[in-house]
Amino acid sequence: MAIKQLTETIINQIAAGEVIERPASVVKELVENAIDAGATRIEVVTAGGGKNLIRITDNGSGIPSDELTLAVSRHCTSKLTDDVHDIRALGFRGEALPSIGSVSRLSVKSRTAQADSGFEISVHGGHMDGPRPAAMNNGTIAEVRDLFFATPARLKFMKTDRAEASAISDIVKRVAIAFPHIRFSLAGSDRTPLELAATGVGSAGMLERISQVLGREFPENALAIDAERDGVRLTGFAGIPAFNRANSLHQFAYVNGRPVRDKQIWGAIRGAYADVISRDRHPVVVLFLNLDPALVDVNVHPAKADVRFRDPGLVRGLIVGAIRQALGQSGIRAATSGAE
Ligand code: ADP
Ligand code: MG
Repeated sequence: MAIKQLTETIINQIAAGEVIERPASVVKELVENAIDAGATRIEVVTAGGGKNLIRITDNGSGIPSDELTLAVSRHCTSKLTDDVHDIRALGFRGEALPSIGSVSRLSVKSRTAQADSGFEISVHGGHMDGPRPAAMNNGTIAEVRDLFFATPARLKFMKTDRAEASAISDIVKRVAIAFPHIRFSLAGSDRTPLELAATGVGSAGMLERISQVLGREFPENALAIDAERDGVRLTGFAGIPAFNRANSLHQFAYVNGRPVRDKQIWGAIRGAYADVISRDRHPVVVLFLNLDPALVDVNVHPAKADVRFRDPGLVRGLIVGAIRQALGQSGIRAATSGAE
Protein backbone atom coordinates (compact mmCIF):
# COMPACT_ATOMS: atom_id res chain seq x y z
CA MET A 1 0.00 0.00 0.00
CA ALA A 2 1.21 3.49 -0.81
CA ILE A 3 2.08 5.81 2.07
CA LYS A 4 -0.51 8.55 2.60
CA GLN A 5 -0.83 11.38 5.09
CA LEU A 6 -3.69 10.80 7.56
CA THR A 7 -6.57 13.24 7.26
CA GLU A 8 -6.94 15.96 9.88
CA THR A 9 -10.09 14.30 11.23
CA ILE A 10 -8.40 10.93 11.64
CA ILE A 11 -5.42 12.57 13.36
CA ASN A 12 -7.80 14.31 15.75
CA GLN A 13 -9.72 11.10 16.41
CA ILE A 14 -6.48 9.33 17.27
CA ALA A 15 -5.64 12.14 19.69
CA ALA A 16 -9.17 11.94 21.08
CA GLY A 17 -8.52 8.27 21.83
CA GLU A 18 -5.81 9.37 24.24
CA VAL A 19 -7.23 12.58 25.66
CA ILE A 20 -10.96 11.83 25.73
CA GLU A 21 -11.53 8.51 27.40
CA ARG A 22 -15.05 9.15 28.65
CA PRO A 23 -17.48 12.02 29.28
CA ALA A 24 -15.64 12.99 32.46
CA SER A 25 -12.49 13.64 30.39
CA VAL A 26 -14.46 16.14 28.28
CA VAL A 27 -15.66 17.86 31.43
CA LYS A 28 -12.10 17.99 32.79
CA GLU A 29 -10.70 19.54 29.60
CA LEU A 30 -13.49 22.11 29.27
CA VAL A 31 -13.42 23.08 32.93
CA GLU A 32 -9.64 23.50 32.71
CA ASN A 33 -10.12 25.77 29.71
CA ALA A 34 -12.56 27.89 31.71
CA ILE A 35 -10.11 28.12 34.61
CA ASP A 36 -7.26 29.08 32.26
CA ALA A 37 -9.56 31.81 30.88
CA GLY A 38 -9.80 33.35 34.36
CA ALA A 39 -13.44 32.42 34.96
CA THR A 40 -14.92 32.94 38.43
CA ARG A 41 -18.13 31.05 37.62
CA ILE A 42 -18.24 27.70 35.87
CA GLU A 43 -21.52 25.92 35.23
CA VAL A 44 -21.64 22.34 34.05
CA VAL A 45 -24.83 20.79 32.70
CA THR A 46 -25.01 17.18 31.57
CA ALA A 47 -27.57 14.69 30.29
CA GLY A 48 -27.33 10.97 29.69
CA GLY A 49 -24.17 10.63 31.77
CA GLY A 50 -22.57 13.27 29.55
CA LYS A 51 -22.98 11.03 26.51
CA ASN A 52 -25.96 13.03 25.23
CA LEU A 53 -24.98 16.47 26.44
CA ILE A 54 -22.22 18.34 28.24
CA ARG A 55 -22.51 22.11 28.41
CA ILE A 56 -19.97 24.26 30.22
CA THR A 57 -20.63 27.96 30.64
CA ASP A 58 -17.97 30.29 32.00
CA ASN A 59 -17.52 34.00 32.56
CA GLY A 60 -13.86 34.01 31.54
CA SER A 61 -11.99 36.08 28.97
CA GLY A 62 -13.78 34.65 25.94
CA ILE A 63 -12.24 33.97 22.55
CA PRO A 64 -12.04 36.77 19.94
CA SER A 65 -14.18 35.90 16.90
CA ASP A 66 -11.16 35.87 14.59
CA GLU A 67 -9.52 33.23 16.80
CA LEU A 68 -12.46 30.84 17.06
CA THR A 69 -11.36 28.80 14.07
CA LEU A 70 -7.88 28.46 15.56
CA ALA A 71 -9.34 27.48 18.93
CA VAL A 72 -10.88 24.34 17.45
CA SER A 73 -7.85 23.59 15.24
CA ARG A 74 -5.19 21.12 16.17
CA HIS A 75 -2.07 22.30 17.99
CA CYS A 76 -3.36 25.82 18.38
CA THR A 77 -3.07 27.25 21.85
CA SER A 78 -2.84 30.67 23.44
CA LYS A 79 -1.02 29.20 26.45
CA LEU A 80 2.39 28.03 25.37
CA THR A 81 4.99 30.34 23.96
CA ASP A 82 8.17 28.46 23.23
CA ASP A 83 9.15 26.71 26.42
CA VAL A 84 7.55 23.36 27.10
CA HIS A 85 9.27 23.37 30.52
CA ASP A 86 7.55 26.50 31.73
CA ILE A 87 3.90 25.52 31.83
CA ARG A 88 1.70 27.54 34.12
CA ALA A 89 -1.70 27.01 32.53
CA LEU A 90 -3.67 23.78 32.92
CA GLY A 91 -3.81 23.38 29.13
CA PHE A 92 -0.96 23.77 26.68
CA ARG A 93 -1.28 21.08 24.01
CA GLY A 94 -3.99 22.66 21.87
CA GLU A 95 -5.62 19.27 21.50
CA ALA A 96 -8.80 19.20 23.55
CA LEU A 97 -11.21 21.15 21.35
CA PRO A 98 -10.20 19.60 18.01
CA SER A 99 -10.18 16.13 19.59
CA ILE A 100 -13.64 16.62 21.08
CA GLY A 101 -14.92 18.10 17.81
CA SER A 102 -13.69 15.07 15.87
CA VAL A 103 -15.75 12.59 17.89
CA SER A 104 -18.89 14.59 18.83
CA ARG A 105 -21.06 17.53 17.85
CA LEU A 106 -19.17 20.42 19.44
CA SER A 107 -20.26 24.02 19.53
CA VAL A 108 -18.15 26.79 21.04
CA LYS A 109 -19.82 30.13 21.59
CA SER A 110 -17.72 32.92 22.93
CA ARG A 111 -17.75 36.63 23.57
CA THR A 112 -14.96 38.86 24.83
CA ALA A 113 -15.56 42.00 26.86
CA GLN A 114 -14.47 44.11 23.86
CA ALA A 115 -16.86 42.50 21.36
CA ASP A 116 -20.35 43.76 20.46
CA SER A 117 -21.69 40.25 20.17
CA GLY A 118 -20.75 36.65 20.62
CA PHE A 119 -19.72 34.22 17.91
CA GLU A 120 -20.25 30.51 17.52
CA ILE A 121 -18.29 27.85 15.74
CA SER A 122 -19.33 24.23 15.44
CA VAL A 123 -17.41 21.08 14.65
CA HIS A 124 -19.42 17.94 13.95
CA GLY A 125 -17.41 14.79 13.58
CA GLY A 126 -14.47 16.91 12.42
CA HIS A 127 -16.43 19.18 10.03
CA MET A 128 -16.14 22.82 10.94
CA ASP A 129 -18.91 25.35 10.43
CA GLY A 130 -18.81 29.07 11.26
CA PRO A 131 -17.99 31.34 12.96
CA ARG A 132 -21.37 33.06 12.96
CA PRO A 133 -22.81 35.65 15.35
CA ALA A 134 -24.53 34.33 18.48
CA ALA A 135 -26.33 36.17 21.25
CA MET A 136 -24.74 35.62 24.64
CA ASN A 137 -23.11 37.20 27.69
CA ASN A 138 -19.35 37.62 28.00
CA GLY A 139 -17.52 34.35 28.39
CA THR A 140 -17.66 30.99 26.70
CA ILE A 141 -20.25 28.25 26.28
CA ALA A 142 -18.85 24.94 25.09
CA GLU A 143 -21.49 22.39 24.23
CA VAL A 144 -20.80 18.77 23.40
CA ARG A 145 -23.61 16.57 22.09
CA ASP A 146 -23.58 12.90 21.12
CA LEU A 147 -20.09 12.18 22.37
CA PHE A 148 -18.37 9.42 20.37
CA PHE A 149 -21.14 9.28 17.73
CA ALA A 150 -18.31 9.45 15.19
CA THR A 151 -16.35 6.63 16.87
CA PRO A 152 -18.94 3.94 17.72
CA ALA A 153 -16.22 1.53 18.89
CA ARG A 154 -15.40 3.91 21.74
CA LEU A 155 -19.05 4.52 22.51
CA LYS A 156 -19.43 0.81 23.29
CA PHE A 157 -17.00 1.14 26.19
CA MET A 158 -19.14 3.68 28.03
CA LYS A 159 -20.58 2.62 31.36
CA THR A 160 -24.12 3.30 32.53
CA ASP A 161 -25.36 6.90 32.60
CA ARG A 162 -25.19 6.71 36.34
CA ALA A 163 -21.55 5.61 36.41
CA GLU A 164 -20.50 8.22 33.86
CA ALA A 165 -22.42 10.93 35.74
CA SER A 166 -20.70 9.99 38.93
CA ALA A 167 -17.27 10.15 37.25
CA ILE A 168 -18.20 13.65 36.06
CA SER A 169 -19.17 14.70 39.55
CA ASP A 170 -15.87 13.32 40.90
CA ILE A 171 -13.80 15.25 38.38
CA VAL A 172 -15.65 18.52 39.02
CA LYS A 173 -15.09 18.12 42.77
CA ARG A 174 -11.46 17.14 42.28
CA VAL A 175 -10.70 20.19 40.16
CA ALA A 176 -12.83 22.51 42.33
CA ILE A 177 -10.78 21.78 45.46
CA ALA A 178 -7.79 23.57 43.95
CA PHE A 179 -9.77 26.66 42.90
CA PRO A 180 -11.89 27.76 45.87
CA HIS A 181 -12.35 31.29 44.53
CA ILE A 182 -14.32 29.90 41.57
CA ARG A 183 -18.01 29.12 41.93
CA PHE A 184 -18.82 25.74 40.42
CA SER A 185 -22.19 24.21 39.70
CA LEU A 186 -23.10 20.87 38.23
CA ALA A 187 -26.69 20.26 37.15
CA GLY A 188 -28.81 18.46 34.59
CA SER A 189 -30.96 15.39 34.39
CA ASP A 190 -28.19 13.15 35.67
CA ARG A 191 -28.12 13.61 39.40
CA THR A 192 -28.75 15.86 42.31
CA PRO A 193 -27.18 19.21 41.57
CA LEU A 194 -23.87 20.23 43.06
CA GLU A 195 -23.37 23.85 44.03
CA LEU A 196 -20.00 25.05 45.34
CA ALA A 197 -20.10 28.70 46.33
CA ALA A 198 -16.93 30.73 45.89
CA THR A 199 -15.03 30.92 49.16
CA GLY A 200 -12.59 33.44 50.55
CA VAL A 201 -8.93 33.40 49.64
CA GLY A 202 -5.97 31.85 51.41
CA SER A 203 -5.98 28.81 53.63
CA ALA A 204 -9.39 29.66 55.14
CA GLY A 205 -10.92 29.60 51.67
CA MET A 206 -9.14 26.38 50.87
CA LEU A 207 -10.49 24.77 54.03
CA GLU A 208 -14.01 25.98 53.28
CA ARG A 209 -13.91 24.49 49.77
CA ILE A 210 -12.54 21.21 51.09
CA SER A 211 -15.44 21.10 53.57
CA GLN A 212 -17.92 21.76 50.77
CA VAL A 213 -16.55 18.82 48.82
CA LEU A 214 -15.56 16.31 51.51
CA GLY A 215 -18.02 17.30 54.21
CA ARG A 216 -17.54 19.16 57.48
CA GLU A 217 -16.26 16.07 59.26
CA PHE A 218 -13.03 16.05 57.29
CA PRO A 219 -11.45 19.27 58.60
CA GLU A 220 -12.58 18.30 62.09
CA ASN A 221 -10.63 15.08 61.70
CA ALA A 222 -7.61 16.39 59.84
CA LEU A 223 -4.29 18.02 60.59
CA ALA A 224 -2.97 21.01 58.69
CA ILE A 225 0.17 20.41 56.65
CA ASP A 226 2.56 23.19 55.77
CA ALA A 227 6.15 22.44 54.90
CA GLU A 228 8.82 23.55 52.49
CA ARG A 229 12.07 22.12 51.26
CA ASP A 230 14.38 23.43 48.54
CA GLY A 231 11.72 25.54 46.87
CA VAL A 232 8.99 22.90 47.02
CA ARG A 233 6.04 23.96 49.16
CA LEU A 234 3.60 21.43 50.54
CA THR A 235 0.28 22.49 52.06
CA GLY A 236 -3.00 20.77 52.72
CA PHE A 237 -4.70 18.50 55.22
CA ALA A 238 -3.99 14.99 56.38
CA GLY A 239 -6.84 13.05 57.92
CA ILE A 240 -6.25 11.43 61.28
CA PRO A 241 -5.77 7.66 60.99
CA ALA A 242 -9.16 6.89 62.57
CA PHE A 243 -10.85 8.82 59.74
CA ASN A 244 -9.90 6.24 57.13
CA ARG A 245 -11.65 4.88 54.06
CA ALA A 246 -11.86 1.60 52.18
CA ASN A 247 -10.34 3.01 48.98
CA SER A 248 -7.94 5.71 47.92
CA LEU A 249 -10.57 7.75 46.03
CA HIS A 250 -10.44 10.17 48.93
CA GLN A 251 -6.85 11.17 48.31
CA PHE A 252 -6.44 14.42 46.42
CA ALA A 253 -3.09 15.62 45.15
CA TYR A 254 -2.33 18.74 43.16
CA VAL A 255 0.84 19.94 41.53
CA ASN A 256 0.71 23.67 40.87
CA GLY A 257 -3.10 23.47 40.97
CA ARG A 258 -3.28 20.56 38.55
CA PRO A 259 -5.03 17.47 39.88
CA VAL A 260 -2.68 14.53 39.46
CA ARG A 261 -2.78 10.83 40.10
CA ASP A 262 0.80 10.09 40.77
CA LYS A 263 2.12 6.77 42.04
CA GLN A 264 4.99 8.43 43.87
CA ILE A 265 2.65 10.71 45.77
CA TRP A 266 0.31 7.84 46.66
CA GLY A 267 3.37 5.84 47.73
CA ALA A 268 4.58 8.68 49.93
CA ILE A 269 1.16 9.00 51.59
CA ARG A 270 1.09 5.26 52.19
CA GLY A 271 4.57 5.44 53.66
CA ALA A 272 3.65 8.31 55.95
CA TYR A 273 0.73 6.37 57.44
CA ALA A 274 2.35 2.93 57.32
CA ASP A 275 2.62 2.60 61.09
CA VAL A 276 -0.79 4.00 61.98
CA ILE A 277 -3.26 2.64 59.40
CA SER A 278 -3.74 -0.98 58.44
CA ARG A 279 -2.77 -1.85 54.89
CA ASP A 280 -6.31 -2.35 53.60
CA ARG A 281 -7.49 1.09 54.76
CA HIS A 282 -6.69 4.49 53.27
CA PRO A 283 -6.36 7.93 54.84
CA VAL A 284 -8.25 10.95 53.50
CA VAL A 285 -5.65 13.45 52.35
CA VAL A 286 -5.60 16.68 50.37
CA LEU A 287 -2.12 17.80 49.35
CA PHE A 288 -1.02 20.77 47.29
CA LEU A 289 2.51 20.81 45.96
CA ASN A 290 3.73 24.10 44.58
CA LEU A 291 7.06 24.38 42.88
CA ASP A 292 8.86 26.07 40.03
CA PRO A 293 7.24 24.69 36.83
CA ALA A 294 10.74 23.92 35.55
CA LEU A 295 11.16 21.32 38.32
CA VAL A 296 8.27 19.16 37.16
CA ASP A 297 7.35 17.76 33.77
CA VAL A 298 3.60 17.76 33.20
CA ASN A 299 3.92 16.76 29.56
CA VAL A 300 4.13 13.04 30.28
CA HIS A 301 0.75 11.90 29.04
CA PRO A 302 -1.88 13.55 26.80
CA ALA A 303 -4.44 13.59 29.62
CA LYS A 304 -1.90 15.50 31.77
CA ALA A 305 -2.73 13.61 34.97
CA ASP A 306 0.76 12.15 35.31
CA VAL A 307 3.74 14.25 36.26
CA ARG A 308 7.44 13.64 36.64
CA PHE A 309 9.41 15.46 39.30
CA ARG A 310 13.00 16.36 38.67
CA ASP A 311 13.77 15.28 42.24
CA PRO A 312 11.26 12.58 43.24
CA GLY A 313 13.18 11.79 46.45
CA LEU A 314 12.79 15.36 47.64
CA VAL A 315 9.03 15.29 47.06
CA ARG A 316 8.63 11.94 48.76
CA GLY A 317 10.71 13.03 51.75
CA LEU A 318 8.75 16.24 52.06
CA ILE A 319 5.37 14.46 52.05
CA VAL A 320 6.37 11.65 54.40
CA GLY A 321 8.15 14.04 56.75
CA ALA A 322 5.37 16.62 56.90
CA ILE A 323 2.56 14.11 57.46
CA ARG A 324 4.53 12.15 60.09
CA GLN A 325 5.40 15.36 61.86
CA ALA A 326 1.76 16.49 61.93
CA LEU A 327 0.63 13.10 63.21
CA GLY A 328 3.44 13.04 65.75
CA GLN A 329 2.71 16.52 67.06
CA SER A 330 -0.87 15.60 67.71
CA GLY A 331 0.30 12.52 69.58
CA ILE A 332 -1.28 10.13 67.11
CA ARG A 333 1.78 8.15 66.20
CA ALA A 334 2.76 7.44 69.75
CA ALA A 335 -0.77 6.57 70.86
CA THR A 336 -1.47 4.21 67.97
CA SER A 337 1.86 2.47 67.92
CA GLY A 338 1.60 1.99 71.66
CA ALA A 339 -1.68 0.18 71.17
CA GLU A 340 -0.27 -2.19 68.59
P1 ADP B 1 -5.27 24.22 25.21
O1 ADP B 1 -6.15 24.36 26.40
O2 ADP B 1 -4.23 23.15 25.38
O3 ADP B 1 -4.67 25.53 24.75
P2 ADP B 1 -7.71 23.58 23.81
O4 ADP B 1 -7.99 22.83 22.57
O5 ADP B 1 -8.35 23.09 25.07
O6 ADP B 1 -6.15 23.68 23.98
O7 ADP B 1 -8.17 25.10 23.58
C1 ADP B 1 -7.60 25.82 22.50
C2 ADP B 1 -7.59 27.32 22.77
O8 ADP B 1 -8.94 27.82 22.77
C3 ADP B 1 -7.03 27.72 24.12
O9 ADP B 1 -5.63 27.87 24.08
C4 ADP B 1 -7.74 29.05 24.37
O10 ADP B 1 -7.07 30.10 23.73
C5 ADP B 1 -9.08 28.86 23.69
N1 ADP B 1 -10.14 28.49 24.65
C6 ADP B 1 -10.67 27.25 24.82
N2 ADP B 1 -11.64 27.26 25.76
C7 ADP B 1 -11.72 28.52 26.21
C8 ADP B 1 -12.54 29.18 27.20
N3 ADP B 1 -13.46 28.52 27.92
N4 ADP B 1 -12.35 30.52 27.38
C9 ADP B 1 -11.43 31.20 26.66
N5 ADP B 1 -10.62 30.63 25.72
C10 ADP B 1 -10.77 29.32 25.50
MG1 MG C 1 -7.50 22.98 27.02
